[in-house]
This record gives sequence, structure tokens and C-alpha cells, in this order.
Amino acid sequence: MGLQAPRGTRDILPAERVYWQYLETTARQILDRAAYHEICTPIFEYTPLFERGIGEATDIVSKEMYTFNDRAQRSLTLRPEGTAGVVRAYIEHGLHSQGGVQRLWYLGPMFRYERPQAGRYRQFHQLGVEVLGSADPRADAEVIAVALDILQALGLKELTLMLNSVGDREDRSAYRQALLDYLTPYKADLDPDSQERLDRNPLRILDSKDPRTQAIVKEAPRLLDYLSPRSRNHFEQVQSLLQDLGINYQIHPALVRGLDYYTHTAFEFQDLSLGNEGTVCGGGRYDHLVEELGGPATPAIGWAMGLERLILLLRERPLPPRTAPYLYMVTRGEAAERQGLILAQQLRHQGYTVEVDLSGSAFGKQVKRADRVGATVCLVIGESEATDHTVQVKWLTSGEQVLVSQRELLSENWRSRFFASA
Ligand code: ATP
Ligand code: MG
Repeated sequence: MGLQAPRGTRDILPAERVYWQYLETTARQILDRAAYHEICTPIFEYTPLFERGIGEATDIVSKEMYTFNDRAQRSLTLRPEGTAGVVRAYIEHGLHSQGGVQRLWYLGPMFRYERPQAGRYRQFHQLGVEVLGSADPRADAEVIAVALDILQALGLKELTLMLNSVGDREDRSAYRQALLDYLTPYKADLDPDSQERLDRNPLRILDSKDPRTQAIVKEAPRLLDYLSPRSRNHFEQVQSLLQDLGINYQIHPALVRGLDYYTHTAFEFQDLSLGNEGTVCGGGRYDHLVEELGGPATPAIGWAMGLERLILLLRERPLPPRTAPYLYMVTRGEAAERQGLILAQQLRHQGYTVEVDLSGSAFGKQVKRADRVGATVCLVIGESEATDHTVQVKWLTSGEQVLVSQRELLSENWRSRFFASA
């Protein structure tokens, strides 16, 4: 076992992490404006929560979970997705008793044992929302609009919204039989995964990426044709609201998504420029899950975004420049070094970013380093400055240089000069 990160995991180094910070800030602002509130749940839960909350016949539960026994022989699982934990917390803390609609969001790592490839990892991150307590089609339209706002604010342009309705449980059981009747004669021609799904989870076959299976599925009966009038009405209302909001979508009758408890609206956002691993956000309504996990009947809808895929797209563009001034402290000689350390601390308390050069090398070398780290201003204290308690302020962009007293530097006057030059 070498000293390497485990297969399917990756380190996010500072140069990449700035993109994550930008993503989080952008998303947080949009969610805040839509009155969504952040929730954090544990990274591991008791295994049955996922078995019941995701469904035993799904890929996630049947082959992708990191499950282990703790020292007291309890079976725990690293969370493979966020919804089950949020719903558990909603029930456990009685959030439903607060009445009304709960709009929640979360961000954090998820774990799935999958074959790693570009945009697919074993530890990855999701940003997700869950809106609990409303069956209103406006909730469906709202979560879709909020997702689109985030994706667009991040600069994604080649976005397609795929929309479908998977109906209610009754619609699906009628459809399931029709699908089985259609697929069974083709059993031998289906890919091995789909053959296995035929008995356990035939709807998932619609999702298969195998070209031969896809060709067979193309002619299969459509779930949309099996919707009850009530389900159809919900679907039509969601579409009409999306049209009101000016949101384009494509109806995708084969979009079923994995979870057993999905009802009505199912959707995905894809970005064409990402190719195969192009789904950046997936979501849907799950009106039975809360009840299934022991809570009161509570209609709900949510989505999750895969952040690694968004970062891949973000990294192709330069970030907006930083807005706070970045000062770089260059000192030489013991007295100067002491003063530099104190002045840096005072400047930080005033809201500047200050990096102190600790190298003790020649002025020229220190100034070069300031340039490399992207500082806007160099503050230079040498022997004579230390004696006079002054500092040389040197703008790295223009080369302009001014001598000023250290006390003066902390004034409001200088604050506006620094912020203007940031
Ligand atoms: P796929 O069919 O691609 O496996 P999924 O249906 O398993 O997707 P969801 O459970 O809906 O995906 O998760 C929502 C989003 O999380 C996906 O659209 C994707 O962007 C991201 N995601 C899912 N699995 C991974 C993974 N292993 N690595 C990175 N991102 C992932
Ligand atoms: Mg998957």
C-alpha cells in the first residue's frame, strides 16, 4: 500500500480550491435569496436508512455502498447521497411540526463504489436541495428554476433540461407490466445488467447506456401514456409554470432515475460540453419517502448537483479577480522583521489580506515572490524605515512607490486607496 490517495478519491489543492469557493459562494447567495436554509447531516448513517430510503433494487444499494461494521458491530454506511439523511433528520427533529414548507439545502461529500473515470469518483461532492411539505407544482417549478439560476450563474451555457413524469405508484405498476410484456421476448438481446434488472427493477432498463438495449427500449411503451388523469394534470401544470418562467425543457420519456420512491416530476440538467458524464444535476419528486421512513405523509421534491463536473467546466475559465487588497510584507533586519509582523497583524484586523515573507532573503527576491503570489501591493520595511517607523508602499501593477508612516498606513485614507487598487 503506497502513500497515495485511495482509488477514486482526489485531493483538492489550493489552486483548484478557489474554484470550489467561488462555486459555494455563488450557490449560497442564490439559495439564500430563494429562502432555502442549510442543513448538515452526518457523513455516515445506519445502513438500513439507505436500504429503505434508496431502495434495495437500485444500483446504489446493490453495488455502490461503502458499508462496514463499527466496533460494536453496528452496520454503518458512508452516505451515497443526501436525501435519505435529510429526510431522517426531518423526521427525527420533528421539522414537520413547525408546519408549512421546509426548504433545505446541503453540500458535502458522498461515497459510491463506482469505476472511477473523468467526472466519476468514489468520493465526490453534491450540492442538493429538498423542499418538504408541498405537493404544489409550483414547488417543482421553483426547485428547477433555482437549479438553473445556479448553473447559469456559474457560466454554464450548453444546458439542456430533460423533463419527465414517472407518475404515481399505481401508474407505474400498470406500466411495469406493459414494459415487462414488451421486453421479455428481447431478454437475450439486452445487456447483462438490464437482463438482471428485468425481474428486479425493469424501469431502470430505460436508463441503460448500452446501444443495443437503447434500440430495443426506443420502441417500448411509454410511461407517459400510463399516467392517471391526476398525474397528467400535475405534469401539465409543471410544464406550464416552466413556460411562464421562460425555462426551456425537453420531454424525455425514458428518464426514470434510480430511486424507488420517486413520483411525478423527474428531471436532469445536462451540459453538452461534458460528453458522456454530462449530467450535472438530477432531481425529482418523492411524495412517499418521508412516510416510508416512518414520518407523516409529506410530499417533497429535491435535486442534487455533482460538483466535480461543475468544477471541470469552471476551471476552463478565469475566475473573477479578487476584490480585497492583498498586501505582501517585505522586511530585512531584526527590527524591521518585528515591526513587519506587528503591522501585518494590525492590517489584517482592518480587513486586508497580508502575507509576511519569512525567507530573510534579499529585497529583490522577496518582491519577485510578491508578484508571483498575485499580491497587489508590497510593503517594504528596511533598516532606515524601521528606525523611522515608516514603510515603503509599492504598487506592483504600476510600480508607483510612496514612503509613509506605519501609523498613517492604518488610516481610513489609506484604506480607500488600497481598496481602489485591489
Ligand atoms: P449516473 O447515471 O451518472 O450514475 P446518478 O443517477 O447515479 O448518475 P444521482 O444519484 O442523481 O446520479 O446524483 C446526482 C448527480 O451527482 C449526478 O448527476 C452527477 O452529476 C453526480 N454524481 C453521481 N455519481 C457521481 C460520482 N460517482 N462521481 C461524481 N459525480 C457523481
Ligand atoms: Mg450512478
